[in-house]
Amino acid sequence: MKCALCGFEFAEDDAQASCKGCPVSRGCNMVKCPNCGYEEPKEPRLVKIIRRLFKGRRKSKNAT
Ligand SMILES: [Zn+2]
Repeated sequence: MKCALCGFEFAEDDAQASCKGCPVSRGCNMVKCPNCGYEEPKEPRLVKIIRRLFKGRRKSKNAT
């Protein structure tokens, strides 16, 4: 996912690792940007699917 603050792209797993000291630990719905430390809510699955669709569309750019 992409950090809303600095635009750094990171894997959700990396972000979770940086949230190890979080008091809520499990069930924490926030991901922390490894770059700037900004915390934001996880991307809903729907957003991921939509983003993937857009990416796929952009990739298959076959001009007729
Ligand atoms: Zn960031």
